[in-house]
Amino acid sequence: MADNDLITVKGQWVRGKSGVWTIRVICPFCGKHHSHGGGDGDTPYAGHRASDCASTGGYMLPEYVQDQTQERD
Ligand SMILES: [Zn+2]
Repeated sequence: MADNDLITVKGQWVRGKSGVWTIRVICPFCGKHHSHGGGDGDTPYAGHRASDCASTGGYMLPEYVQDQTQERD
């Protein structure tokens, strides 16, 4: 199965104090929350993840979208 056949889940990337991105999503397979890390770069590493419940195929994490309402000059 190609990555683009997978479900993209919804979630909000949050950057921790250590600079590491995490996201909490609702699993489309089991309905529970799963958390994933996105590294510590300028933007989080999205893309394919295996679901924590090990359901078939996993899913795609959403790309980070900056919340423009929080931008300041
Ligand atoms: Zn799950």
